[in-house]
Amino acid sequence: MTDGVIKYNFHFTPTAPLPKTAWEEIEAVRERLFAMKLIGEKAQIGYGNISRRIDSERFVITGTQTGHLPNLTAEHYAQIDTWNNETFTIHSSGATKPSSEALTHATIYNLSPDIKAVIHIHSKTIWNFMLSHHYPQTADVPYGSREMIEAVKTLYRNQNPLDKPKFAMKGHEEGVMTFGRDLREAEMVLYRIVGEILENSSNQA
Ligand SMILES: [Zn+2]
Repeated sequence: MTDGVIKYNFHFTPTAPLPKTAWEEIEAVRERLFAMKLIGEKAQIGYGNISRRIDSERFVITGTQTGHLPNLTAEHYAQIDTWNNETFTIHSSGATKPSSEALTHATIYNLSPDIKAVIHIHSKTIWNFMLSHHYPQTADVPYGSREMIEAVKTLYRNQNPLDKPKFAMKGHEEGVMTFGRDLREAEMVLYRIVGEILENSSNQA
C-alpha cells in the first residue's frame, strides 16, 4: 500500500447462492441503471453497485466483477453479514465476494437505521454537475479509506442524512452515491439529479 491508506479486511465464507427474495428488487433497479450505463464496464473495469438492507446487521449487495453483465442471477449477489468501521472488517457470504465498494455502502448504513438502500453509480456528467452545482460532496480522499469514512460522517454531521440522500465522491472520479428508505427512493433521488441536468442543458440550448 503506497498511499498509506488503511483498507478494509474482507472475510468471505462461500455459501449457497442467495434466495431470489434477497436480490430481485435490486436486480430490477440494476437493469435500468445498466441500460443507462450508470452501471457497467469501462476499460475492462466494472463500476457501479447497489445494495439493500436486510436488518440492522446485514445487507445484500451486487458481487465483485459483475459490471459487464446486463443481468445478474443468484450467483452474483453477496450478503454482508457484519461490518465494523472501527476494526475495518467486513464478513460476507453467498456464492460470490461482494463489491469492494461494500464498505462505502456500510458507512452509509451506519449513518441511520432508516437508510435501507444504497446506490453507487459512475457518470462523469452527473459527477461533474454535482461538484459544480453545490451538491453534497465528500472531501478529496481515496475511496475505501479511513479518511473516506470520516468524510462521509463529516458530511452528515448535525443533520438527518435522509434530508440530503446523495453525494458526489470528490476523491473517486465519476463516483456518485444516493440512498433512501427503500430502493425506489434511492433510485428516484438519482433520477431527480438527472432531471436537473437535462433541465440545465435545455436552458442553455
Ligand atoms: Zn465507484
